[in-house]
Amino acid sequence: MHVAIVGCGQLARMMALAGWPQGHRFTFLAEPGEGTDCVKGLGEIVERTPEMEGESLFTALGNPDVVTVEREHVDVSLLSTLKPHCSVYPSPEAISYCQHRGREKTFLNSLGIQTAPFHLANNAEELSASVKTLGYPVFVKTCEEGYDGYGQWVLKTDEDLANLVAEADSLPEVVIEGRVDFDREVSLIAARDASGACVFYPLTENLHRNGILWSSIAPADAPEALHAKAKDIADKVLNALDYVGVIAIEMFQAGDDLLVNELAPRVHNSGHWTQGAGISSQFENHIRAICGLGLGHTINSQHAGMVNLLGIEAPKEIISESNVQHHVYNKSLRPGRKVGHLNLVSDDRHTLEVKLKRIRDSLYED
Ligand code: AMP
Repeated sequence: MHVAIVGCGQLARMMALAGWPQGHRFTFLAEPGEGTDCVKGLGEIVERTPEMEGESLFTALGNPDVVTVEREHVDVSLLSTLKPHCSVYPSPEAISYCQHRGREKTFLNSLGIQTAPFHLANNAEELSASVKTLGYPVFVKTCEEGYDGYGQWVLKTDEDLANLVAEADSLPEVVIEGRVDFDREVSLIAARDASGACVFYPLTENLHRNGILWSSIAPADAPEALHAKAKDIADKVLNALDYVGVIAIEMFQAGDDLLVNELAPRVHNSGHWTQGAGISSQFENHIRAICGLGLGHTINSQHAGMVNLLGIEAPKEIISESNVQHHVYNKSLRPGRKVGHLNLVSDDRHTLEVKLKRIRDSLYED
């Protein structure tokens, strides 16, 4: 089939790399000036112009069978204009829930799914009143466009609040969250196809560094009841959104509770380990879901882990180690930039944990 992907980053790259063996071909839609190095050689790249919408966009993309996205910050009304011409998965409606933190949390709570306690604010008075109700510390996040810790402030004191209030008139709508005293951060990647069939990867444990995902390990070392709870959350979300494709659900684990922090309507960095785990990867399953080709196996028999390459290359000694799978995205190096990752597997969880830590310590000095 012919798949068009909105976006030209590493996620688009890895979807195309997973789709090629299945016989699919790809076109990528780039925003004006967007970097396209990640997808060079993997299909045609079309730069969007203002006149492209509906039929003209469909034609410019080469009449694809299906259009999908590699990021949630896309123009959903533009995507909707493609719907009379081809499938658009996930649907623009599902994506729009994930574009606004307030809308997303309200939707989750309406399904009975727990989130951090939150308030929405549009101005300084609402911000101050919300902080007073929730109590310090609070996380203030822009409702739209924030990611990887950008567009986010942690307020611990009245002084922090006063500083932010001083800027508040230039702030967009924000969500104010009470701090969740979590034990760890976990995520669940799941896929659903248009017939309603769903598959779930095991719960994944994630480590962050400066607000950016650093390393993952799966399955998470957690009681069966917690795995079941995570799966139940994903099942509710997928079905309520009539979702098609892969979704990632980022959660905080606090004791026996799971609180959803964020939904990502796409393949996700915390699912990169699936590429090296002897199962259908999240990228393969996304393509299978949107092309209606049946979903692949998701339960790994070995323990699997991932370490991100953030602004660094991995030395030869590490990529030559047994069981290390090396992925690079063809991006130039910049401090903290996601330029690749390493996937590892082991029969023994402890061995894998030790190896992941040793690799992280040797790649990152501080
Ligand atoms: P986010 O941009 O929402 O993914 O947040 C980035 C990181 O900030 C998360 O991975 C958490 O480590 C931390 N964080 C965000 N919101 C909260 C919260 N309400 N309580 C505790 N930690 C949080």
